[in-house]
Amino acid sequence: MKDIFDNIKFGRFNLKSRIIRTGLWESQNDSTYGLSQSIFDRYESLAKNNVGLIITELISLYSHDRFSDYSDYINYPYFIKEFRSLPEIAHEYDVPIFAQIGFINCNINGKQMMEVNELNMEDIRKIQADYIVAAKKIAFAGFDGIQLNIGNNYFLSRVMDPFENQREDNYGGNTYNRVRMVLEIIKLIKQTTDLHIHCRVNLYKDFDDSLEICKILAENGADSLQITKFLSPQYFRKSLSNENMLVDFTDAVASEVSIPVVLGGGLSSMNAMNDLMNSTNIEFFSMQRPFVRNPALLTEWKEKGYGESDCKTCNNCYWKKDSTCLIKSE
Ligand code: SF4
Repeated sequence: MKDIFDNIKFGRFNLKSRIIRTGLWESQNDSTYGLSQSIFDRYESLAKNNVGLIITELISLYSHDRFSDYSDYINYPYFIKEFRSLPEIAHEYDVPIFAQIGFINCNINGKQMMEVNELNMEDIRKIQADYIVAAKKIAFAGFDGIQLNIGNNYFLSRVMDPFENQREDNYGGNTYNRVRMVLEIIKLIKQTTDLHIHCRVNLYKDFDDSLEICKILAENGADSLQITKFLSPQYFRKSLSNENMLVDFTDAVASEVSIPVVLGGGLSSMNAMNDLMNSTNIEFFSMQRPFVRNPALLTEWKEKGYGESDCKTCNNCYWKKDSTCLIKSE
């Protein structure tokens, strides 16, 4: 029987559990002093409490695109100096750590709020070059991998979306063309760093096209995938049909590719994860808000042999400077 606390390979890494801590929008910066001791304490809590792999909160590719005043961006002047502490902390506990990078609004080459179909070749090359510079900084800071957030409503997810992308050049039309821009980024990151490349990718409206996107990514350099949807899967926790759709799709992807595939959120019970893992091809699960609620969650589950997060998915911990849960226990 498989268990979430199995020691397991994930690419070249040995994980202590099958639980991936995905970052969302927790504050990483107090907007005056950069990374503070409370941020370092947060990562230490994750690393020492049985998380298999840590993925940081979103580090935006562009300063204009920060999620809040307390979010970070890759061109923050002290990025390498401050962020190198996060891999140092995680590695003390033998936990690998990836940096998450992405952007939503496309303001480049002096143009504002560009849509997918408006990009010219100069714009495409600028975005790709910005990703390569970001990857080099992430590698230099000592991270083990990079999570390319090309899911949810991030800009590159819209480039791959068959409904959004109506381009008639080599970057639109068939599935491969819509993934081409991301594939070129992956290829260049591989040529210039040894980062593990983890892609957070959507289940779009078209199941088969979405599956094809995942296969193309897996066959062209992606080292692992995390499956998500346009809106965070946490919003679907109470909707069985939506939850099942994501599970069914993740199961289908995991059966078709030979790289690790992570179910992107939506589950918060140890028994439910173990049941799912033993009845499908799904091997890895991601969680985020449950760790804000209780950073020692997995250690408690491991000791008891069962457990469920009581996070309400209310999102009141976000947007704030300290990203703490103030909801009282029942
Ligand atoms: S209960 Fe609400 S405030 Fe607390 S961790 Fe969950 S989402 Fe955040």
